[in-house]
Amino acid sequence: MSLNLVRLDRRALVRAAMGGLLVTPLIACNENPATGRRQFIVVSDDMLEQMSAQTWAEIQRTAPRSQSAAAQRTIEAIGRRIADSSGLSNVNWEFVAFDSPEVNAFVLPGGKVGFFRGLMERAESDDELAAVMGHEVGHVIARHAAERVSQQLGVQLGVQAAAMALSEDLGEHADLAAAALGAGLIYGVVLPYSRAHELEADRLGVDLMKQSAFDPGGAVSFWEKMIAAQGETPLAWMSTHPANDDRLAALRALI
Ligand SMILES: [Zn+2]
Repeated sequence: MSLNLVRLDRRALVRAAMGGLLVTPLIACNENPATGRRQFIVVSDDMLEQMSAQTWAEIQRTAPRSQSAAAQRTIEAIGRRIADSSGLSNVNWEFVAFDSPEVNAFVLPGGKVGFFRGLMERAESDDELAAVMGHEVGHVIARHAAERVSQQLGVQLGVQAAAMALSEDLGEHADLAAAALGAGLIYGVVLPYSRAHELEADRLGVDLMKQSAFDPGGAVSFWEKMIAAQGETPLAWMSTHPANDDRLAALRALI
């Protein structure tokens, strides 16, 4: 969900990269037991926790909480049940219902999960809400935020290095060339990978639903609804969770 809520300015990223690369070279390319995949991670858990806490504080300041005690209770109960199955006992989970018409939900790497009213109104059962919750908690299990930040750092450092090299040859056009290079890298490398993250989070989410005795069919019915709604109004959910028939087919295969 979106992890896009964590917006980092480029200078902070490069500073973080320098710090992160120096401090945590040993955690790069470890295998994640939940996914069986080796991951390129150059940010420390502490740094990510800090970024997450800052972002969470900012969201709490700006986004109003739900007025409905029942909505908050529901989100919290589903969140606890899913998180208990996650095996991540050292995460300080928080589950909050926000009063916004946006059809969206998000998770921060520190285990802070937000659901917006617009999404809650569209979900027709606890199983459908659990599908979204499982997906969000799946992002945390798979350490997708650490991976995305590391990728962005890699891209940014690569662009800076290229700009330095280009500036010798291209003079004043070096910035433009570096900008073009950056866009190419982002669209070519980072975004497609984020679709892979989405599928991975779906898969982990379905596992969590099964482990916590929710009906995993809720994931299919929820996605069908999102795909059907795509035509009527652009949903915020779609920009961070692109829906298509491939995704639905992958989910059906899991269930
Ligand atoms: Zn997602």
